[in-house]
Amino acid sequence: MTDQVDTLFTRIIKREIPAEIVYEDDLCIAINDIAPQAPVHVLLIPKRQIPRLADATESERAILGHLMLVAGDISRQLGVDEAFRLVVNNGADAGQTVFHLHLHILANPKDSKQFSESDTGI
Ligand code: AMP
Repeated sequence: MTDQVDTLFTRIIKREIPAEIVYEDDLCIAINDIAPQAPVHVLLIPKRQIPRLADATESERAILGHLMLVAGDISRQLGVDEAFRLVVNNGADAGQTVFHLHLHILANPKDSKQFSESDTGI
């Protein structure tokens, strides 16, 4: 890391703040969202602190591609690979609250009656 101030997610990556980790490798970590908007709501976060998707640069091309492949892996791991959504909020006006790039992986498995699609505020 550089002289950037650690984000909430960097503090989770460093195990300074607890989280339910569902996946981790050298480049990224995935955790259960603390306030789930669907029965499956996982945040997939690059370890590199990129504030917003629009801030990503050419040097981050590989990590962005990696996140997409890992999202597919996680969907299979959780048994939702037939139906899931990926959401990235870019900027405060789009609902971004944590300025460390993250992908929301959202799924509502058929056997879950807890939420309907319209319930998700993401
Ligand atoms: P966004 O609004 O797109 O920036 O998404 C930030 C997400 O982080 C929200 O869905 C929050 O519920 C989630 N969140 C905030 N704090 C935590 C935490 N400590 N552990 C897990 N998820 C969190």
